[in-house]
Amino acid sequence: MQIAKALTAAKVPNPSAYKNAHGLSPRSFSSDPYHWNANTVVHILERKEYTGCTVNFKTYTNSIWDKKQRDNPEENWAVFENTHPEIINPEEFEKVQEIRKQRHRRTRTGKSSMFSGLVYCYDCGAKMRYCTTKDFEKRQDHFVCGNYKSNTGSCTIHFIRAVVLEQLVLTNMQIVISYVTAHENYFRRVMTEKMSLKSAEIIKSAKRKLAQKEKRLAELDRLFIKIYEDNVSAKLSDERFAMMSEQYEDEQAALRKDISELEAEIAGQERQSDNLELFIKRARKYEGLNELTPYALRELVKAIYVEKPDKSCGKKKQKIRIQYDLVGFIPINELLQQERQRETA
Ligand SMILES: [Zn+2]
Repeated sequence: MQIAKALTAAKVPNPSAYKNAHGLSPRSFSSDPYHWNANTVVHILERKEYTGCTVNFKTYTNSIWDKKQRDNPEENWAVFENTHPEIINPEEFEKVQEIRKQRHRRTRTGKSSMFSGLVYCYDCGAKMRYCTTKDFEKRQDHFVCGNYKSNTGSCTIHFIRAVVLEQLVLTNMQIVISYVTAHENYFRRVMTEKMSLKSAEIIKSAKRKLAQKEKRLAELDRLFIKIYEDNVSAKLSDERFAMMSEQYEDEQAALRKDISELEAEIAGQERQSDNLELFIKRARKYEGLNELTPYALRELVKAIYVEKPDKSCGKKKQKIRIQYDLVGFIPINELLQQERQRETA
């Protein structure tokens, strides 16, 4: 909606105006050539073809009698890569899909935070809730643990003000960026080692889960044949058959979804050296970052974990841990310490 508003304000011709001007027949006519619908923008953002591939079977029809076009779930699409030049690179496209999935929930006041959906409680893992009111000044906006309900919930408050969070995240990013740009080769060596240990673990567990799901899927196929035969031989009533086959189909659909997610996870882990290079490239892009923008945040950061404030030494101290996009947690304190030791040696 915000993009649509910006395009309208900038008087950028909308797709039907563009088609009109180029002698192509538009799908619909709009009276105002500069008016952009939020839906039009959504279609553009989600159009996988712009990454250079061809996508088939995005819709299906039930039968030759029922010709209504229905949306096919993405795991049933057939995607052919590199069939024409890309206009957006696949990484950027995926980033957009990720951002859209965790879209900012706007509060009733209309205010939203660039951190919404990115902040988690370190102790219970729940998403932290963004709290603001119309009268709040910006410095009063804050996040609290989603499992905290004024002392009746299962977790403690983990209160952190948005401005404090912003400062902590920016500082952490600046340290990481300057370290990566100054010691790229050493950073690459340390992270490669750290990531290959971690990803071997993840791949092993994902492959185990994948095998279980595939086994169950095959079992369901056999069960389905069995009830079909029982139904034909009248051992199973039509009603019961319909009910059971529906159950099996639902379970199969859920399994297929899980399987495709696991396969994507394994493929992602196996691409880890590409991921590391991409992260280094992005860090270099933000060299000298001195203000946190939503885009820089989403390009570099996957999640932020907020610890319980530490009051042990009188003054309240708050710690956060940042899971960086593509590479995960970076042991930045250890790296800096090694650096100091090298300097004094
Ligand atoms: Zn919590």
